[in-house]
Amino acid sequence: MEAEGSKKARVYEVDELLKNLKLSEAEREGVFLAKEDRESLPEVKWMAVGRLLTVRGFSEQSLEKTLRAAWNPAREVSFRSIEQNLFQVQAHCVGDWNRIMEDGPWLFRECAFMVEKFYGATPTPSVLPNRVQAWIQIHRIPPMYRTEAILKQLAARVGEVDRVEAKVVSFGNGYFHRARVKLTADKPLPRVVTFTPEGCESMMFVVMYEKLPKFCNFCGKMGHEHMECGTGEYAGTDLQFGNWMLASEASWHPSTPRVHWEKRRQESPSYELWTGWEGLGGKSSFEKMPPWKRNSGEAGLDNGKGNALEDSATSPLKPLLEGVEKSADKTGAQRHLNLNDVDLALVAIPLPPP
Ligand SMILES: [Zn+2]
Repeated sequence: MEAEGSKKARVYEVDELLKNLKLSEAEREGVFLAKEDRESLPEVKWMAVGRLLTVRGFSEQSLEKTLRAAWNPAREVSFRSIEQNLFQVQAHCVGDWNRIMEDGPWLFRECAFMVEKFYGATPTPSVLPNRVQAWIQIHRIPPMYRTEAILKQLAARVGEVDRVEAKVVSFGNGYFHRARVKLTADKPLPRVVTFTPEGCESMMFVVMYEKLPKFCNFCGKMGHEHMECGTGEYAGTDLQFGNWMLASEASWHPSTPRVHWEKRRQESPSYELWTGWEGLGGKSSFEKMPPWKRNSGEAGLDNGKGNALEDSATSPLKPLLEGVEKSADKTGAQRHLNLNDVDLALVAIPLPPP
């Protein structure tokens, strides 16, 4: 049987050959399709292309198996490779289609499988998938500014906005607003959003991410780790991104499929959510943030060996309101919330009257 790799290599060679061929008149003339005939073609439904955001090689069979398990489709979903790390996916009912397109991020070995709608008008899509869906949390927006318009503008600083939730979610001594966004894969993850009402002092709102693929602690981009970024040799102070950007699984949107999040936290002794929100209104406060000490090995982000099928598995929401444990930081300058064995309280607070 011909190896998959050599088949692909042959396709590329044919493409190259076609570019250099001198075509005859008859070959160039070909078949013409009138606009009205084109418009009357049946729509190619529920088709997408997908790409795995990774710098490493991977098994296409394992990827497909993992995705099928995570999507758990009601009807058949076709999945086939069209190029190296480019896959055509087609659902056969709207329910499966909506889940695949809207319930991501879909993770395979902690890397995101990015999907974009594909209309099938070209052999391969002209735009490659480059966006990762995520729920984000924007923390501590003051009551006066909690309008949908402002929330949308704040969320748009992080990614392309699908929707925002006007309802404030409260936990422990913090609160946040959620937004569903598409993050650009090749841009660093924003950590804060700055907000400046005219004539007032600027404020910084911390952005936290629910379910996220692995990302680099040095450059802040998804799809690789800092040890794979450049030479991979960085001092602790170079690592400006880290696990502190991840929201506790207990605070995730109820519809988000769960991962090994708690496992990841348990494997990461350095994981602590910084809750020194007070006075997070300027540069000096920002500088008080904790050292970014996410270590990919400690965080269990580096391999996912043996757990590919569980990467995007769903688990029920944990019981809420079981208690919040606070602990004082050794320095006393910041407070940390250790999430390893704590369930955070999630309480919906209605918007104040306008
Ligand atoms: Zn990097």
